[in-house]
Amino acid sequence: MVRDPGRSSECSLAFASTECLSHAELIEAPVRWPRPSRLQRELEVPGKKLRAGMQSLGLETVGDLLEHLPSDSREARTVKALRAGEQATVAVQVRAIGARAVRRRGMRPLVEATVFDATGTMRATFFNQPWLVERYPAGTRLLLHGKADARGGFTVSHHAPGSETGGDGVAAGSGESDAVAHYPAAEGVTSTQILTLVHAQRGALADVVEALSAATRVAERLPDRASALAAMHFPRLPQDPETGRRRLAFEELLLTQLVFLRRRAARRARTGAAVLADRDALGERWLAHGLPFELTGDQRRAIDTIAADVARIAPMQRLLMGEVGSGKTVVALYAMLQAVGHGRQAALMAPTETLAEQHFATIQQLLGSGVGGHLISTALLTGSTPARRRRDILAKLNSGELSLIVGTHALIEPDVAFDALAVAVIDEQHRFGVRQRAALGEREERDPTGPPGPRLAPHMLHMTATPIPRTLALARYGDLDTSALHELPRGRQPIETRLVSGEAERAQAYEELRRELAAGRQAYVVCPLIEEAEEPGTGDSGMGAAARTAGRAAGAGGGLGLRAASAELLRLRSGELAGYELALLHGGMRPREKHEAMAAFASGRAAVLVATTVIEVGIDVPNATVMLIENAERFGISQLHQLRGRVGRGEHRSRCLLVGAQSSGRLQALARHADGFRLAEIDLAMRKEGELIGTRQSGLGQFRVARLPDDAQLLELARARAEAILAGDPELRSPDHALLGVALERELGAQARAPIPA
Ligand code: ADP
Ligand code: MG
Repeated sequence: MVRDPGRSSECSLAFASTECLSHAELIEAPVRWPRPSRLQRELEVPGKKLRAGMQSLGLETVGDLLEHLPSDSREARTVKALRAGEQATVAVQVRAIGARAVRRRGMRPLVEATVFDATGTMRATFFNQPWLVERYPAGTRLLLHGKADARGGFTVSHHAPGSETGGDGVAAGSGESDAVAHYPAAEGVTSTQILTLVHAQRGALADVVEALSAATRVAERLPDRASALAAMHFPRLPQDPETGRRRLAFEELLLTQLVFLRRRAARRARTGAAVLADRDALGERWLAHGLPFELTGDQRRAIDTIAADVARIAPMQRLLMGEVGSGKTVVALYAMLQAVGHGRQAALMAPTETLAEQHFATIQQLLGSGVGGHLISTALLTGSTPARRRRDILAKLNSGELSLIVGTHALIEPDVAFDALAVAVIDEQHRFGVRQRAALGEREERDPTGPPGPRLAPHMLHMTATPIPRTLALARYGDLDTSALHELPRGRQPIETRLVSGEAERAQAYEELRRELAAGRQAYVVCPLIEEAEEPGTGDSGMGAAARTAGRAAGAGGGLGLRAASAELLRLRSGELAGYELALLHGGMRPREKHEAMAAFASGRAAVLVATTVIEVGIDVPNATVMLIENAERFGISQLHQLRGRVGRGEHRSRCLLVGAQSSGRLQALARHADGFRLAEIDLAMRKEGELIGTRQSGLGQFRVARLPDDAQLLELARARAEAILAGDPELRSPDHALLGVALERELGAQARAPIPA
């Protein structure tokens, strides 16, 4: 209540206005509740062409229209600033309007209006729409889009009513607003036509449902949903569109984080896992006595976190990120030994036979002759395991005789049954399908003697060598816990990375390479293509999307001067690397040929491996000290970083030579930074919209309003808010959160029941 100097009695201010209401007036004032059903009304659209256009945009109801957000807002010009011949939008008011007959046959009368803003007056002409005389009487505020001529005339191509109420919306010439919402349009419908329709439905904003509680809005300092939409459609201040967008983006991010967190909670509630709580079990003993080196700090932290995870009855779902060579296998082995030490089983699944074989070798080497006198029965199961051996392994997995198994997809074939699988590790998890990963998680403990009660799910550790920036991890793997290994193990040599541009520098680079070979070292030469004249990206090279489009745009690969592995091999054999043994490796080769090439390089018989990016994973040759990458700007930052991780794996100093333009920001970043996480962040920041072909896969393009990585901070806020909301009200049952629950089901109902994302 305030005292109104103009009135004798006390009065109340009407909400969001300066109008003063007496007690009696207050009682009389109509109460208005939102009626969301009105948003479902079909949109009335004049004209067949326009209707088709709106339909192609998917805009059929009033609600659809209000949610069709402007892509940006365009500055409106003042009348004075118009230049002849230029397309522009102006916000004006009508002073006088009238129709005039046109002599040409078939033409309807044209409409001429005198319009003005604070800076001047002009004559606006509308063709073929005589009814506008009635629709836009003197005093109407208008948004006009069209072309000015040199004589104070303006030919209107599109028009929309401005806002009627003074000080609200577009105030013609008041200087208060000169921003006009601009919409994604389509064939048959322009942005200004959409604006006209939005204007006509402005009243429906009152029916928009507010999903955020007042407490959340106050805490995050966000406007309500209707105001946010109004701020985007009808900006009054330059910052309005962004303020509105931010609010809508927050809601969107909050909903996805709620889905992640609830999905995680649901999974935990559904099944329990074996409680591996005894820290004296094999894992710990192995760390204390069996490990031939000291753990890095990151490894220690990851192991401690995992030890706590597997000691709980809730199944672990953790993503372990660490570059190649950062020592993930050691961490995974610890988790697996915790299972074995508790009398249960563990499995590690890798995407290729080579990787599985490598893990198996690493594990055998790390376990040596057992842990504290305890021999651990291990086996390798892949597609090429002989039938007899496979039968034997399956029997022993089933009986529990076999404790630890490493393998490929062969591990999830239907006839593979575990006795008591308590820890499952998936390496290079993104290379498996959702179903494949879930399949390993469903290899539950079998308890034929016990009652048919709830069964146990294994603790899951997902591993990836791709460093994922936190923003991306939250947006995409929000229902996994994450651990990262940043540090490389002690004794690892930093890799010197340099750009090589032009023929002279390239000749020098090959000389460097030959010096290393002469000293007994080995080298990789990486090319973007397999065959000459092949289209980039069609082979196994797995180049970045940017490179693929660039390649396509410019025609066939050969014409781009891209190097192909097979041709390069021949060229080098008789050129720069004459006299050395060269091996060829690419995805077009048969498995046996690949195997031979890798064996030749690993044994040192071949001094140089000329390859496509198939070497990204799966090769560990410590004697290789040089990597030369042709057409380096054709690859993505992360991919190049991953590639160069193939060198610097032994005791010798190593280098990576990137053949490409000095001006490339991506290549410069690689030369400057060694930390993959840092590079991943730079990569994310440097990507532009047009370049983001793979946005959907990268998890960035899944949002309608939010923009990542720009909205990273907003994402953090949304995550924290989602956690706080669910901590107090896990089922979203309180009146405060009921509408949030409705929005969640409407927007993301299906996702709420989805498995762990890919
Ligand atoms: P990743 O799976 O992350 O690529 P691995 O676990 O295979 O890495 O480790 C690569 C190599 O480094 C292995 O030979 C491993 O034994 C060794 N290694 C792992 N951790 C350490 C450490 N802390 N100190 C020294 N060597 C380590
Ligand atoms: Mg590994």
